[in-house]
Amino acid sequence: MATPFKSVKAGQAIEQIRTGEQYIESLRGRKLKVYLFGELVPEPVDHPVIRPSVNAVAETYDLAARNPELASAQSPYTGERVNRFLHVARSAEDLVMQNKMQRRLGQLTGTCFQRCVGMDALNTLHSVTFDIDEAHGTPYHKRFTDFLARMQRHGYVIGGAMTDVKGDRGKPPHQQADPDLFVHVSRRTEEGVYIRGAKAHQTGCINSHWLIVMPTLRLGPEDRDYAIVGALPVDAPGITYVYGRQSCDTRSMEGDIDAGNRRFSGQEAMIVFDDAFIPWENVFMDGEDEFAAPLVERFTCYHRRSYVCKTGVGDVLIGAAATVADYNGVEKVSHIRDKLVEMTHLNETIYGTGVAASYQATPMKSGAYLADDMLANVCKHHVTKLPYEIGRLAQDLAGGLMVTLPSEKELGHPEVGRILRKYLKGRAEIATEDRMRILRLIENMTLGRNAVGYLTESMHGAGSPQAQRIQIARQMQIETKKRMAKGLAGIATEPPDEPAAEGTQYLDRVFRAVDGD
Ligand SMILES: Cc1cc2nc3c(=O)[nH]c(=O)nc-3n(C[C@H](O)[C@H](O)[C@H](O)COP(=O)(O)OP(=O)(O)OC[C@H]3O[C@@H](n4cnc5c(N)ncnc54)[C@H](O)[C@@H]3O)c2cc1C
Ligand code: SF4
Repeated sequence: MATPFKSVKAGQAIEQIRTGEQYIESLRGRKLKVYLFGELVPEPVDHPVIRPSVNAVAETYDLAARNPELASAQSPYTGERVNRFLHVARSAEDLVMQNKMQRRLGQLTGTCFQRCVGMDALNTLHSVTFDIDEAHGTPYHKRFTDFLARMQRHGYVIGGAMTDVKGDRGKPPHQQADPDLFVHVSRRTEEGVYIRGAKAHQTGCINSHWLIVMPTLRLGPEDRDYAIVGALPVDAPGITYVYGRQSCDTRSMEGDIDAGNRRFSGQEAMIVFDDAFIPWENVFMDGEDEFAAPLVERFTCYHRRSYVCKTGVGDVLIGAAATVADYNGVEKVSHIRDKLVEMTHLNETIYGTGVAASYQATPMKSGAYLADDMLANVCKHHVTKLPYEIGRLAQDLAGGLMVTLPSEKELGHPEVGRILRKYLKGRAEIATEDRMRILRLIENMTLGRNAVGYLTESMHGAGSPQAQRIQIARQMQIETKKRMAKGLAGIATEPPDEPAAEGTQYLDRVFRAVDGD
């Protein structure tokens, strides 16, 4: 019997949430202001469109219970094992284990399981608060580690709220026609700060217990009030959530087969802060505008290699494509095998760059480890492209039926059902219903609600493609590479040991001795 969790408000003394069932209970009764289909949702956990996204987060608890080595870690703050999503990486191995956990959860859910934004925010803030304190003598790092220990003790889910709605993309926050288009401090008191504005596309926010608000871009001195980082409970007064539609999301209100993946989905919503309060103990940056850029860069460095999650989802899609080919009687045909090989090659290309970014990590002054920026950006840039090609190949193998299938109700109809079972058969020994199920899963992942996570989130989540190209360009050390070429071609050049002033150490990281060598 699960421990009953009525509500999980700040500081409330409850046991640590350890199972998916306890987690789902912990979300009940919070009286969140959530709008969906033009109405307030009385209890999000029980809404048929929302529930599959709750189930996906629940899986992050159940995996940790089943496989603690993979999905939990020893916390130096509580002295206990805590869910890996709440652990700050203290070694390259910790970062690699995050990636392995992400791949496994992608396999288990076939969608976005929503907890990585919070995990990557915690990892980022560990070093950023340390560095701000060093520069300004502020108390942020201690506040942050106290907050982290509280989150770990309770086993909470943290939503990472970075992306502002942004208005005119050509203007910084202080030049916007409406000051609320970026989240900012509206008032400071002795007790804390009040914030206004809205965050867009917020993954898993309604399924979280706490939100960490962070700036979304580099800021200047005139944007000081926008340089705010703080944590507040999801049910804090002054917060409204507007649920995002996903393609074919109402299939989750229909039958089992038509949903494609009935149990799991991702979740995004807009969060509106209408003078929501953050006490000083949960404020981790206030006005140190010069630290907004390092914060965003470190966050994206963690988060862009977190997109290894898509390789777990890719494993499912490759399996679905192979299954439909089997059901159609063509699995051994050479071009089908070759397409499965190509899908696998693309999927492992993402995985390879993601784990490489984690292996090639660097310790920060705070003791946290930061993934390799170049490789993390290369990983995420692959993710903006390769899942589309994997999806295209899956649709190729699926055949046209994946978009012309009749509904589950027809299958259950006494007269039409008989016709469908006869005419929608592939191999004689395979049940027509099973063929329909696998085609619906491919539809779900490449056109339906989980295509949000597999395709468009792959494009824009953690930054649109151009953002990665900018980071790759900054680190490509083109002058060093020109010198290498000129040297071999016999063209006179500066002495080889003269370091190029390129402001990046990527190649140094490549040639750094591997621990243990
Ligand atoms: C499914 C999903 C889940 C997400 N989850 C989260 C989350 O949990 N937390 C979070 O904080 N964020 C989240 N994001 C937000 C994500 O980081 C943003 O979508 C991304 O940063 C792009 O911002 P945008 O969507 O506003 O696109 P836009 O800014 O509107 O970009 C559209 C295009 O315009 C270009 N562009 C924009 N501004 C400029 C400029 N100044 N100069 C030149 N070109 C420009 C872009 O490169 C892009 O090609 C999520 C996004 C998605 C799609
Ligand atoms: S898109 Fe991937 S990395 Fe981001 S929260 Fe979802 S599962 Fe995690």
